Amino acid sequence: MTRTTCPYCGVGCGVIADKGGVKGDTEHPANFGKLCVKGAALAETIGLEDRLLVPRIDGRAASWTQATARIAGAFSKAVAEHGPNSVAFYVSGQLLTEDYYVVNKLAKGFIGTANIDTNSRLCMASSVAGHKRAFGADVVPGNYEDLEEADLVVFVGSNAAWCHPVLYQRIAAAKAKRPAMRVVVIDPRRTDTCALADLHLALRPGSDAVLFNGLLAHLGAPAVDADFVARSTNGAEAALAAANLGPEETAEICGLSPGSVALFFDWFARTNKTVTLYSQGINQSSSGVDKVNAIINCHLLTGRIGRPGMGPFSLTGQPNAMGGREVGGLANQLAAHLEIENPAHRDKLRRFWNAPRVAETQGLKAVDLFAALHSGQIKALWIMATNPLVSLPDSDRMREALAACPFVVVSDCVASNDTLRYADVALPATAWGEKEGTVTNSERRISRQRRFLPAPGEARDDWRMVCEVARAMGFMGFDFASAAAVFSEHAALSGFENDGERAFDISGLADLTDAEYEALAPVQWPLRRGEASTARMFGDGGFYTPDRRARFVPITPRPPKGATTRAHPLTLNTGRVRDHWHTMTRTGRSARLSAHVFEPYLEI
Ligand code: SF4
Repeated sequence: MTRTTCPYCGVGCGVIADKGGVKGDTEHPANFGKLCVKGAALAETIGLEDRLLVPRIDGRAASWTQATARIAGAFSKAVAEHGPNSVAFYVSGQLLTEDYYVVNKLAKGFIGTANIDTNSRLCMASSVAGHKRAFGADVVPGNYEDLEEADLVVFVGSNAAWCHPVLYQRIAAAKAKRPAMRVVVIDPRRTDTCALADLHLALRPGSDAVLFNGLLAHLGAPAVDADFVARSTNGAEAALAAANLGPEETAEICGLSPGSVALFFDWFARTNKTVTLYSQGINQSSSGVDKVNAIINCHLLTGRIGRPGMGPFSLTGQPNAMGGREVGGLANQLAAHLEIENPAHRDKLRRFWNAPRVAETQGLKAVDLFAALHSGQIKALWIMATNPLVSLPDSDRMREALAACPFVVVSDCVASNDTLRYADVALPATAWGEKEGTVTNSERRISRQRRFLPAPGEARDDWRMVCEVARAMGFMGFDFASAAAVFSEHAALSGFENDGERAFDISGLADLTDAEYEALAPVQWPLRRGEASTARMFGDGGFYTPDRRARFVPITPRPPKGATTRAHPLTLNTGRVRDHWHTMTRTGRSARLSAHVFEPYLEI
């Protein structure tokens, strides 16, 4: 019997795998034994059909030695001839933290480029930026218990019933026990999440910031927590001045009835224990960061943050989107919440890693990265555990971009997907159940993924293949013996010259023995050396800005480009189906997962 973690969504459910299949882990605090249909079908997706089992160079089987030498040679040549920014990595929220850590270390510390971005960019980069603007650090302040303890749960741009099913079920169970709990769903579509809603606000697509600005303007005494605002925040007046619409005008712009808007505003103002949950409907937007801050502003004004049953709560899409953020998986971050623009931070990283060339400027973000690929700026690209040809917008252009790149490496566990067709070198990666490491879920909880199957064929863990290429490029500092050793360095870096300056600190886990790492129980960060883990943050202020106060952000709502007009009355929006994951390379293997929705569809 092996305790591990589901590889799909950011809920991060604990799973027990044994000969009889998989079941929910009753001891895991994310799910207490429950699994959604995707998690329950995991055993049906772990066969070896269509697995990539040996490295391939130009479509032909090759040895690891040949593949490693070819990659190291191509990357070194590109750097020598065109500079560090001529190479790039496009990685994935499917990677484990240990994989993520070493590839970031190679790119940002040794090659000297920040051209490494992740598909998590698409799901939660807006939240990262919104958190940093408001809190000075990328922190989700609360935890899952808050969702059950709240008296008002507001879902914004989140079809949690399909996308975060176990968490949604936890809220549904809490509401069944305590029917006075209210649920509001803010979504242009009437989704399955509305089954729980006391109020559904089918607002005009893209008008979320208008609604939350209107709410901010409405929140007056007694909802305002004047003490908290005076003691722990800056900028309330400017944010309130920017939020100058009355409820009727707000309703008009949002395409809602004045009565429904008034009811929502009234409930929010009168309910102390309020949680606002949001995901892709907020994040995936041309003004996603502003939408995030429009929500956070309302929680700051009411002091509803970091205490039981209250807070803004970003639901991460992927199993390890949060872990990727911890190691600097985005092109505008360094590892361990160090900042790329901060010379002192770069110096810390240089000294900790003994790194020859720490990236000094932000790299190319996902969409820009593929644009640079298309224009010929990128000479060598490594894509890890993701299928951007399907998941990024404008797939024809993506195809041209990949075809234009002189050297493409793809490491994945499948033998064929759309992106692999463009690989000069394809590397066989271990899959869920075959690899060791950690992931972090939406509530900052680090959980182990554990191996319970042997690596098939010549498949290797991603962190190991990156280390081998790094060594072949002549770099020191990549001699990790195990995933545990990588984790240990990652944890030590988080505490390195930290002194409470950075929120992400798991130095309390830096000295784990291999056996302790193996047995590590799910735990929330921060977990500073000698201290207990932290369930909630910011209840007493203590933000990570220079003056330790949270920042209100004045928001001027911007409608999406090409917003609905009389001449163009339809708006195209996207969503997910309940039982499939991403581009279906894994869930597509289970027939029963196609029973719910068996083909793509368009609702008008
Ligand atoms: Fe896996 Fe998410 Fe389903 Fe939990 S809710 S079983 S983490 S897909």
